[in-house]
Amino acid sequence: MKQIGHFIGGEQIAGTSGRTADVYNPATGEVQAQVALASADETAAFVAAAQTAQPEWAAMNPQRRARVMIEYVRLLNRDMDKLAEVLSSEHGKTIPDAKGDVQRGLEVIEYCIGAPQMLKGEFTDSAGPGIDLYSMRQPLGVVAAIMPFNFPAMMPLWHVGPALACGNAVILKPSERDPSVPLMLAELLVEAGLPKGVFQVVNGDKEAVDALLDSPIVQGVSFVGSTPIAQYIYSRATANGKRAQCFGGAKNHMIVMPDADMDQAADALVGAGYGAAGERCMAVSVAVPVGDATADALIEKLVPRIEKLKVGPYTSGDDVDMGPVVTAAAKQRIVGLIDKGVEEGADLVVDGRGFELQGYENGFFVGPTLFDKVSKDMSIYKEEIFGPVLSTVRTGSYDEALGLAMDNEYGNGTAIFTRDGDTARDFASRINIGMVGINVPIPVPLAYHTFGGWKKSAFGDLNQHGPDSFRFYTRTKTVTARWPSGLKEGGEFHFKAMD
Ligand code: NAD
Repeated sequence: MKQIGHFIGGEQIAGTSGRTADVYNPATGEVQAQVALASADETAAFVAAAQTAQPEWAAMNPQRRARVMIEYVRLLNRDMDKLAEVLSSEHGKTIPDAKGDVQRGLEVIEYCIGAPQMLKGEFTDSAGPGIDLYSMRQPLGVVAAIMPFNFPAMMPLWHVGPALACGNAVILKPSERDPSVPLMLAELLVEAGLPKGVFQVVNGDKEAVDALLDSPIVQGVSFVGSTPIAQYIYSRATANGKRAQCFGGAKNHMIVMPDADMDQAADALVGAGYGAAGERCMAVSVAVPVGDATADALIEKLVPRIEKLKVGPYTSGDDVDMGPVVTAAAKQRIVGLIDKGVEEGADLVVDGRGFELQGYENGFFVGPTLFDKVSKDMSIYKEEIFGPVLSTVRTGSYDEALGLAMDNEYGNGTAIFTRDGDTARDFASRINIGMVGINVPIPVPLAYHTFGGWKKSAFGDLNQHGPDSFRFYTRTKTVTARWPSGLKEGGEFHFKAMD
């Protein structure tokens, strides 16, 4: 059985805790590897190694650090196919989706090439006579990134890139479900010229995470995952005096106005609802047609599209639209929620429960599922399902649809489909959700803007990638400098003038 360890000091090492977790091939249901789960002591050793390596990396000028990123981009492109293959085998998503996972991460590394520009400070010449005032951005030191299973390349790259570009040393704690790609990313970083020891990967579970949260050496924590864990990590990290940004779950609504292009809206819903088997924090899980006529038209267009979706293993290449979900437990939870939706009175229009594929009977497949006439009090509306299940909540007016999305406890992404500029503008301005699409179903901002939700989808002030990431991974220091030559003529007077 393949054993997956950790990455420290520029190389992979085996774990010593004696604890491991199974890593599955979700398409076949087979255990394909075991990943080591680090103990608190092992985790402390990773942190210590990072602390030793960080000052030299921080002292390297930003342009030289950026050159590592330039080479890293080249290597990620070079190894795209290999990364995608391994990613799909552990996650289950299709090869095009896996390539998208690497690509969207790589774009943030491209953005990090601009580190010298991003890290430029501010300067006030002659704030008083002979007095200059300047602010600089300095790295935090050692930072930790605790990442989810659903984007095993993109999520680490979104955090590791900016953190390193700013001069920090990083400890990455990937998901224990798909740990191989993060280790490949680490090896490529060293090949790109990153000094050994600046980047560590510690595989593990709560024990490793808690050790990172309690370490006095770790200065900043970035977390992406489910909301209950995000809340836990945010409160423990901040109680320990760390800077923290914790991104949680989602329940993304897509409002369909009566004037929308219904074919476009249906295509968008199918892609955004079922792509990557719904295991995206920006997946649309709630369709909100305004008016019964819109709802009827939408359902009529959705059903044949959903029935045409090809579900299968990533090895079928471009021939499949979506793969299995990540684990047997995830499948069981999703099927349980579909059962509950039926019990609670929603209309099950397309049922993905009994889905089976010859040769893959033990795979964690759930077919695409569509509910109509879902109401706010049902479990399938309230819970983040994180599977290929789309719920339709019918509303009578734009205000009711807007209110529904606004009342939801999550606030990651949302979208409106309409041809009416006034409605779209009103929606973008009033909605209390972090990322808004207008006729765009998954409004993931590009690398040079920031990504983050509101409400229970994010805890902390600063978002992922874009300028916010450079703010998160640096501290501001402001220096007031007085130069003796400026005091030659009546220094006292000048100081008073400055007050
Ligand atoms: P998860 O919360 O189960 O795990 C995330 C990380 O936390 C993993 O590294 C895991 O090992 C660790 N962890 C789990 N339980 C822990 C505990 N009790 N104590 C300490 N650490 C713990 O999330 P997941 O299932 O890997 O990912 C799916 C979730 O991530 C979904 O809710 C999805 O919406 C969310 N997500 C959010 C964003 C965003 O930007 N808001 C992006 C991607 C995914």
